[in-house]
Amino acid sequence: MKLSRVSKNIPGSPVRELYEKAKSYSDTIDFTLGDPDFYTSRKICEAVNDAINSRRMNYSSNAGLMKLRERISDFIAREDGMSYDPASEIMVTVGAMEALYTSLVNLLDPGDEVIVFSPYWSNYIHMIQMCGGEAVIVNTEEDTFDIDVDKMKAAITPRTVAVIINHPNNPTGTVYSEAGLRYVLQLSEQYGLAVICDQCYRSLVYPEAEYHSIPSLYARKENLILIDSLSKRFAMTGWRLGYVAAPAQFIAGMVHLQENMVACAALPSQYAAIAALSTALSDEVRGMLREYKMRRDYVVSQIANIPKLRCNLPQATFYIWVNIKATGLSGKEFAGRLLEQEHVAVVPGIAYGDDRYIRVALTMGMEKIKEGMVRIRRFLD
Ligand code: PLP
Repeated sequence: MKLSRVSKNIPGSPVRELYEKAKSYSDTIDFTLGDPDFYTSRKICEAVNDAINSRRMNYSSNAGLMKLRERISDFIAREDGMSYDPASEIMVTVGAMEALYTSLVNLLDPGDEVIVFSPYWSNYIHMIQMCGGEAVIVNTEEDTFDIDVDKMKAAITPRTVAVIINHPNNPTGTVYSEAGLRYVLQLSEQYGLAVICDQCYRSLVYPEAEYHSIPSLYARKENLILIDSLSKRFAMTGWRLGYVAAPAQFIAGMVHLQENMVACAALPSQYAAIAALSTALSDEVRGMLREYKMRRDYVVSQIANIPKLRCNLPQATFYIWVNIKATGLSGKEFAGRLLEQEHVAVVPGIAYGDDRYIRVALTMGMEKIKEGMVRIRRFLD
């Protein structure tokens, strides 16, 4: 059967082979997955059971249940101080991934360019390619991973239509500086670029960080496409529930596209999201953050004592972006050998655009993390 050019051109994941191998060992310590090891709150699950028991299981409107859109609107107002009309400026999606992909379908014509800051979540690049667009990679500053303003300006061409900012950032855990963000927003305004702001890790900002959300810095809603997800915040990755908030004209296009793609997000997940955003779960969310912080502090202090590894203290997310240059190995070699010799799985940095690094995800309990660090140290010794 014939396969499309798009299908053939999207590269396979550089970590697929690694995943397969990792599964073949019974004692693998897996630092690869950005999937919280916490359970979705019982309160959320009970609300979904109630919805199912009262037989609420049809399609919703393409944009999502109005009650959920109202909750999302309240949530954005609370978190970011921005007001979005639930009837026309919000759409519920199948995770942030579908929000991102549909936004790109809504924006791009073949040959259009989208600026993506590196290190990046590689799905951005593939989604842009799937829409016939071109991802223009702009490196962030060496070591701090903050926005490099000169590089961004140099990357803008007449074909540039959008910039994606993943703030806070996967994989580096960086919270971009206010000055860097303001510059991106100012340039975007000057050149009429859409700003796609992926806030999936917004709930995972550590207390000491100086975090400025993009909406709080950007009064101009006209160019902003705000994307978020319940996945990481409420440990709900498998529920596949996200949303996009944007100007009414943009959302109208999104709803039309969604109608032709998935119709709507799954109804039980929409009820779960209503419960998540309505119930006072801040203690549970804070509890998860405390636990991630403990894990982060432990691993960063361990890495500080391993001569060939270096890392920053991530200001957000449950990832650590580890510089392995001094080992003389590429990320791919490092990850392959570490898995083979010590049965520890990490993601080579090539998956995020820089193979002088590996990414370590802290989505497991302390006991396993400690064992993983013992093995990594032994591997390097
Ligand atoms: N954006 C970034 C930067 C991510 O790392 C991820 C998942 O790992 C997503 C979006 C996808 O989120 P969702 O589970 O809501 O589709």
